Amino acid sequence: MVVTEFLLSLGGMTRWDEILTLPVQNPTTLEFSAADIMWSMVEGWRDSMDRLALIPYSRVNDFVRGESNNKDCPTKFHVEARRRRSPTMNCKPKVDGILEYILYWCSFGPDDYRKGGSVRPSRPFSQKRKTPAGRPNTKRGCSCHFIVKRLIAEPSVALVIYNHNKHVDKKGMPCHGPMDKMAVGTKAMFAPYISDELRLQVMSLLYVGIPVETIMQRHTEMVQRQGGPSNRDDLLTHRFVRRLERKIRRSVYELDDDDAVSINTWVETHQDQIFFYEDFSNTDTFALGVQTDWQLQQMIQCGNRSLLVSDSRFGTNKLKYPVHSILVFDEQKNAIPVAWIITPNFAHGEIYRWMGALYDRAHTKDPTWQLGGFIIDDPLADVRAIREVFKCPVLISLWRIRHAWHKNLVNKCSDIVKRSAMAGRLGDIIFSICRGNGGVELFEAFLQDFIDCTDFLDYFRALWIPRLGAWTTVLKATPLATAEAASAIESYHHLLKLRLLNEADENVYQRADWLVHKLGTKVHSYYWLDEYSGKDNFSRYWRSEWNSGPNPWRQGLKIPDSDVSVEGNCARVVSQKNKGKSHLVLNPGSDFALCDCSWSRKGNLCKHSIKSTKVCRDRGLVQPSLALFRYYQVLASLVRCPPSDTLISDHAMAVAVSVRRQLDTLLCASPANPPNGPAFPASQFASRPRESEIEEDNTENGVSASQSHAASGNDEEDVHIDQDSPTCKRKSGKASGENEELSTDKDSPTNKKRKSGEASDDEGTSVVQGMQPPETSSQATEGTDGSA
Ligand SMILES: [Zn+2]
Ligand SMILES: [Zn+2]
Repeated sequence: MVVTEFLLSLGGMTRWDEILTLPVQNPTTLEFSAADIMWSMVEGWRDSMDRLALIPYSRVNDFVRGESNNKDCPTKFHVEARRRRSPTMNCKPKVDGILEYILYWCSFGPDDYRKGGSVRPSRPFSQKRKTPAGRPNTKRGCSCHFIVKRLIAEPSVALVIYNHNKHVDKKGMPCHGPMDKMAVGTKAMFAPYISDELRLQVMSLLYVGIPVETIMQRHTEMVQRQGGPSNRDDLLTHRFVRRLERKIRRSVYELDDDDAVSINTWVETHQDQIFFYEDFSNTDTFALGVQTDWQLQQMIQCGNRSLLVSDSRFGTNKLKYPVHSILVFDEQKNAIPVAWIITPNFAHGEIYRWMGALYDRAHTKDPTWQLGGFIIDDPLADVRAIREVFKCPVLISLWRIRHAWHKNLVNKCSDIVKRSAMAGRLGDIIFSICRGNGGVELFEAFLQDFIDCTDFLDYFRALWIPRLGAWTTVLKATPLATAEAASAIESYHHLLKLRLLNEADENVYQRADWLVHKLGTKVHSYYWLDEYSGKDNFSRYWRSEWNSGPNPWRQGLKIPDSDVSVEGNCARVVSQKNKGKSHLVLNPGSDFALCDCSWSRKGNLCKHSIKSTKVCRDRGLVQPSLALFRYYQVLASLVRCPPSDTLISDHAMAVAVSVRRQLDTLLCASPANPPNGPAFPASQFASRPRESEIEEDNTENGVSASQSHAASGNDEEDVHIDQDSPTCKRKSGKASGENEELSTDKDSPTNKKRKSGEASDDEGTSVVQGMQPPETSSQATEGTDGSA
């Protein structure tokens, strides 16, 4: 009955061509309400006046959320009725043809369960529904509702029609919220449901294993501290939390025996978490892009005028479908995932397929959203596609190379002196290449000079020689991301390994449905908690070996200068935990510094290396970082060849000169960079011209990201994390990530050329295995490490 009434209300009274020429309104806030929109009045049914507005169809949920979070009268809008045109139906040629019709109603109505209120006769299907729309016992006859129509003529647009925009009952009296005298002291004061934020919080806590009782206890304590409930979230009930817990416990990832069918079903029921999907039937490859609402928010907030990072391959050795992560840096400069893309091995690199969809999703929500820079980790990444989509400079991170070489030097070269000589030499080669002095031939000389270190050289020849050409080209042409960013990405990668690849039954790694399920639930929850300010109240979280702490970068900068002494090519850094001990860092100041702590011995950038590098630079013992060097270089070239447009040119010159002056002061002054954060305050660049090249580098330096990580900090503890943790029930403790970058890197150049993923994968594996006492020896080494 209600429905037809509304269908009729527009019939014939308004000219559709007029409606369609109304502006499409798209407020730039994450959610928005009726108050943020200009409404057009239209004569409606029974002489009432309707309000009309057009908004992008993709933002209907943001509007519903905004309307629900009405400050004067918090509520929740539910879908009271919905009609969809089935795809098989012939489209009416009429201009007012409707693809979809949705009626949203305030959850305090339309029925009235108060004394003397009226209830509609029950609908035939209403009893079968598991979750009734709205909670019957909270219904108070509210008549506030609106309609959303998606028109055939303009499917990207939603027509919102507001008939009753006041939260009143049939008599026109306030029937819930602070204006309703009868509601005072009851739940009807507040919205009928907890907020999406609290729901996500509770779900995340449950997913990481925090018991219902603990969650409720912390919640009650919090409400008591603030002197009783003051909003809907304070009314969280035990029953509600228990119900969520049961739902989680009973959920299964395997929705069908057939993985492909299962993933299709998952996609159907998780539309709001997917920004891109092509199954095998559409093209010959499969690609699934996952992004939750929370991730989208992070991408918009942390990515705007800042950086997005691509961690292009995770789990190539273990997973049937490796994970491609897109990361942003949070305030602490930790890397957090804002999207995961799952494709078969051989499809990697085809980022143009989903990149546009990712950009559109952020851009639709915030049309002013603009990226400052995009960091890639793969020399074969489609740089042109990235530039076209995100309209921003592209930078490359060395972390994969650095990590793989470092780790394999530790595992394959037992002579410490030789090891550090090789690492130092590799660092010098990279430095030369980036400065434009030389190319691949430098590696040939390296192979000659260290010919007796066969284990490492075999590895290097097999895995790296074939792809050094691509790396050399990219290093010459592309600005470098900072070591701080590299450290953050490295830590993210490590943490993901702990959080994702810890299944007792490794067969599940062959299933895509398991992968999306685990990423979207448990793994997502951990990253959500990392950012949650109240996480420290839950010992289960901070005791967890999977949590994230201050990243090595931050920890490194906290070490006092007096704890570092540099002599020749080595530095001693006093252990921060045990002042009686110290760590030896070889090649301090180089990107390839080697420390004897366990975190470094796994190939990671440790806080001791970071600190000793900083000390060396401050004292002028080594050259500035490559990132800084590149920055300088571009500034210089800008001064030499100014852009042709005089306006831009003048401005760019002014900026360049001023920045150069500041740089000089920074580099000359002794306690150089401020301890936390970028060397260059963002404000200096506030007005720089978009087009000029200067932008390009500034991003790279302005960047300075850094990261997280679990173990990183605790000198010896990181080892336990990998191996002894009871939660890691992996059969072979290590395997997961250790070979990862082997296979990982190995797939890249070869794979792209011949499109057969399997072939090259096998080839890769055999290479690894061929010389893979490393696999075992690596475990052995780390074992020793741990016990040491
Ligand atoms: Zn209402
Ligand atoms: Zn160290």
